[in-house]
Amino acid sequence: MIRDILHVGNPLLREVSREVDPGELASPAMQQLIDDLVDTMHAANGAGIAAPQVGELVRIATIEVNHNPRYPYKPPIPLTVVVNPVIEVLDDELVEINEGCLSVPDMRGNVMRHVNIRVRYLDRDGNEHDEVKRGLTAGTFQHELDHLDGLLFLDKVFDTRTLTTWEQFERFHRAAFIERITEFVTRVGS
Ligand code: ZN
Repeated sequence: MIRDILHVGNPLLREVSREVDPGELASPAMQQLIDDLVDTMHAANGAGIAAPQVGELVRIATIEVNHNPRYPYKPPIPLTVVVNPVIEVLDDELVEINEGCLSVPDMRGNVMRHVNIRVRYLDRDGNEHDEVKRGLTAGTFQHELDHLDGLLFLDKVFDTRTLTTWEQFERFHRAAFIERITEFVTRVGS
């Protein structure tokens, strides 16, 4: 079921979400929530969505990139359900990424993200994963997992002059960003 997406200003987006215990994860309600997140992410062409964005304060997010029309330069990420994720930053390399968010309508801006991270999480069946993510894919994970701590990309925009509507991004900034980020993706491989 496609759910309504909360927008910036809704206090629920600023809450710290709680962990899900493995028994609860198997419940029909939690499995339905995961299905709803996937449906809602797909309907909105999101690269990811986190449970608080539909008003559920649990540490669950879904991520998928597959020729995404909002972010055509992002390398593909298979559908991934992350439960109780923990990120460990592996080194101090950073990349400046232009981001948007389903909860921040018609706005994009530049944030610094870690290039190399390790993420540990449970999938929807409760299996443990321990994976290294790099590049734009690492950035997507950081963006979605920030939602679980009540953070939005807006909080991390270090130069507010990079804020644009989507239309003005297309008009004035897209070409330069795509050139820079394509070079980065070619170098990093993800
Ligand atoms: Zn977001």
